[in-house]
Amino acid sequence: MNGTYSTGLVILSILVAILASYTALDLAKRISRIQVSRYRHLWLIGGALAMGVGIWAMHFIGMLAFNMPMKIGYDPWVTLYSLAIALVVSWFALYSATVERLSLTHLLAGGISMGIGIAAMHYTGMAAMTIHPAMVYDGWLYAASVLIAITASIVALWITFSLRADSQKHALIRKLSAATVMGFAITGMHYTGMAAAQFAPHSVSLATHVDNAWLTIAVSAISLSILIITLILSMLDARLDLQNSNFTQSLKAANDKLLHFATHDALTDLPNRLVLTERIERAIHTARRDHRPFAIIYLDLDGFKMINDSLGHLIGDALLKSVTQRLLSILSQKDTLTRVGGDEFVLLIENLAQPENCLVICEQIQAAMRIPLEAGKTKLHITASIGVAIFPHDGDSVESLLHNADAAMYEVKRSGRNAYRYFEPVMNTNALRTLRIQADLHKALDNQELKLYYQPKFLGDNLELNGTEALLRWNHAELGEISPNEFIPIAERSGLVLEIGEWVIRQTCRQQVEWIKAGIEPIKIAVNLSAKHLRQRNLDALILAIVHEYQLDPRLLMLEITESAVMEDAEENVATINQLQRVGFEVAIDDFGTGYSSLSYLQKFRVRQIKIDQFFVAGLDKNHAEGFAIVSAIIGLARALKMEVVAEGVETHSQLQKLMRLSCDQFQGYLLGKPMPAAEFTSLLRRRRMPRLSG
Ligand code: C2E
Ligand code: CA
Ligand code: CA
Repeated sequence: MNGTYSTGLVILSILVAILASYTALDLAKRISRIQVSRYRHLWLIGGALAMGVGIWAMHFIGMLAFNMPMKIGYDPWVTLYSLAIALVVSWFALYSATVERLSLTHLLAGGISMGIGIAAMHYTGMAAMTIHPAMVYDGWLYAASVLIAITASIVALWITFSLRADSQKHALIRKLSAATVMGFAITGMHYTGMAAAQFAPHSVSLATHVDNAWLTIAVSAISLSILIITLILSMLDARLDLQNSNFTQSLKAANDKLLHFATHDALTDLPNRLVLTERIERAIHTARRDHRPFAIIYLDLDGFKMINDSLGHLIGDALLKSVTQRLLSILSQKDTLTRVGGDEFVLLIENLAQPENCLVICEQIQAAMRIPLEAGKTKLHITASIGVAIFPHDGDSVESLLHNADAAMYEVKRSGRNAYRYFEPVMNTNALRTLRIQADLHKALDNQELKLYYQPKFLGDNLELNGTEALLRWNHAELGEISPNEFIPIAERSGLVLEIGEWVIRQTCRQQVEWIKAGIEPIKIAVNLSAKHLRQRNLDALILAIVHEYQLDPRLLMLEITESAVMEDAEENVATINQLQRVGFEVAIDDFGTGYSSLSYLQKFRVRQIKIDQFFVAGLDKNHAEGFAIVSAIIGLARALKMEVVAEGVETHSQLQKLMRLSCDQFQGYLLGKPMPAAEFTSLLRRRRMPRLSG
């Protein structure tokens, strides 16, 4: 007895098989990416339901496509049984395709069980027809169908697994082709199995007969809707997942950025103090373990503030970046460079065999800074003050190491910058003293602990008293006499020097008034101004106001400004100095010869006086032709620019004689008169003449 196939239903069965395969592929990919296990199980069950119904429907439609010259019924229980097998096989298939890794044994075992399962479903389904007399199967075709089922399962499993890793691109096409192959393999198995069945003539189906058309429609509709709904759900879920993971990713990116911000300096992108502290802690730990020293280098740029103030923040920032690059180029990967303040850097140098090895790095830093640095469109020159502290010698905690490296750096600043020094315990005492001085200077001003001494200046030709310089004296209640060389730089850093300067000018004015009242002819008093004063707005008006307050002639006041202070910002200071002179003050350039002024500026300043630094005057005594030549050149220069020259620090007769021979205009020094209290100077003023020279 032979049957025929209705083509439409065969095609429908193939389509259902392809759709079921496609769904399976999609789900496998989906499920393998789900992290939450509960969620994963739910999808596995839902997916198995859809896929099982799909495969079973394909098989059922395939049977319905077979028309036999008899009415066929299906035993509902056996049919349900075959559906149950389809569901279990699908669950197993999906489960196998979503494991982490697919080994060969796994692939074979999974494929074989699935193949047998599919065959079981098929032949159970066939049995549901309860044909009488019983069907006979052709052995070869039967075996072939089982083999096809197994092979198809193995291939399907392998394809599913390999497609899981696919990116979005081409994924759809590849998935469709794979689904088509799988669909054909499944239907191939089915129709081979069908071909294996041999019906005896006049066979009857003992199962309850049903309307074939109605069944076809019902099974197709139900299975197709289940498959389609599953696919849609899977796609929706995938999109949600994508959004979720996008969100998670941007959250992570934002978080990373925040962390970077919190641990790095925005300008140079160097790690900041937080990171530094942690790295030093770690360094201490490893250094203890390995018995190896490490170094903390504290580096502060010299005069950076001035560059920033005069050339602008943009240039300042560019300079800091350049410095960063320079420093990074010296350091090794293991070392840490951090920026801990405006122009302050801290370097952590690990893996030092010997503490002395750090010297090499300090030398390298200095050498690197000697090459002009790129800052915006210009190139700038900057030096650095460097302090070094070594673990464990100079401290065994983050705080003490940083503190001591800083103290060493500070010591470099005090003694003229642009150098490096290793920490010494005395530096902490120095630092404490500095703090003390800074704090007490405020009180000193209020409590009138400050006094002015007056040192005379004499004319060169007849040694007649010609003027005086007011010099600060501070007798600290506990620390004793403190030199202005020590406290003026401290006052300058704290800004108190402005107030002190004003006090000095007021005090000299009071002195002038006192002398005038006592009937003494007033004399020109020189006061020292610091670099900070020059940067004060309306400096001329401020000083003039004080002088007017005491109804004094501004010409009685001379302002001494050191050459290095003037040259810090020469361009600006030309205007300031000219303005001071315009309102009537005389200006002298102090410590001349040490500040590298350029001739062109000297010409523009047009100051009244230049004071040759003591260093050169002392050089006259050494009987060096060179010392004499320098002083002679300075005097010649002043003459050419129509300025007076004052020689400071004249201590010996021979110096005096040489200076006289060079026709120096004025002299000042211990030989002729030390700085003295006001009362003493008053009596000198009364005499108005040179005290008798001794020796
Ligand atoms: P300076 O302006 O160069 O003052 C000259 C310094 O040399 C004074 O030291 C003076 O006592 C000293 N001196 C004078 N003759 C001789 C000599 O023959 N031999 C030697 N070896 N030294 C001599 P002093 O008074 O200790 O002042 C030191 C510095 O402190 C001054 O140097 C000045 O820069 C600063 N200073 C003093 N008073 C003031 C002030 O009122 N304001 C400001 N801003 N600075 C001041
Ligand atoms: Ca001076
Ligand atoms: Ca001087």
